Amino acid sequence: MATKGVFRVECPHCGESFDADFWTVVRGDRDHDVKELILSGEFDLLVCPKCEEMVQHEEPFLYIDPTRDILAFVMPESYEAEKDKWIARMQADYEPVRGALTSGQGLTGEPLYFFGLGQLSAMLENDKDREEETEVMEFMAREDGLQLLPVKPAAARELDLPFTIPVKTGLAGRTAALSAAEALYAKNDALPRLKKLVDFLKTPGSETVPFLKKK
Ligand SMILES: [Zn+2]
Repeated sequence: MATKGVFRVECPHCGESFDADFWTVVRGDRDHDVKELILSGEFDLLVCPKCEEMVQHEEPFLYIDPTRDILAFVMPESYEAEKDKWIARMQADYEPVRGALTSGQGLTGEPLYFFGLGQLSAMLENDKDREEETEVMEFMAREDGLQLLPVKPAAARELDLPFTIPVKTGLAGRTAALSAAEALYAKNDALPRLKKLVDFLKTPGSETVPFLKKK
C-alpha cells in the first residue's frame, strides 16, 4: 500500500488554501494505479475545491521498486536549484532507515535522486520499453531451450541492455552469452537492446560478464 501524507496547498488561481493527500511512499511493484498516474503525468495534479481549477503541486516522495532495484527520492523540480543541499538532506534522512528499507528486498540500497516527476517517469517509460523487449527476447530464448540470467537493473539501464541475458543451459560467461544473443538476434533484428547486448559482449574485456545479478 502506498503511504499518504496531508499537506496544505494554496490554489494559484483563486488563492484558496486546502488540505490535500499526497503519496509519501510509492511501491512501484505493488501500487500499479499510482504508477500509472506517474506515467500519465496526473500524479501531482489536484482539483481546487473552491474554483475547481487544476492545481499542480509537488511534494517529495520515495519511489521504491525492489524488483527493479529502484529506491528513488523524487523531489519537486524547483528543488533542483539547490540540488546539493537537498541531496545531502535526503541522504541524512535515509541513512538511519537504510537497513530497514533495503533488507531482504533485493535493493542494493544505492538511492537515485530525481528533481521533478518527469525524470522519474522518463526512467519508468524506458524501463517499460526494456521490459517489453526483454519479454519478446525471453520468449524466443525459451523456445530455443536457452537459460536466462538476470542483469543488474542499474547496469541494464546504464548500458541500455535487456533485463536478462540468454545463455545455453549450463554455460556461463561472455562467449556463451554472445553466441546465444547472436543466434536470437539473427532471428529477430527488431530488438535494439539485444543488438546492444551483442555489441557489448563483442567488446574485448574479461571473460566473465561482470554485471550479472547475483541470485
Ligand atoms: Zn482555486
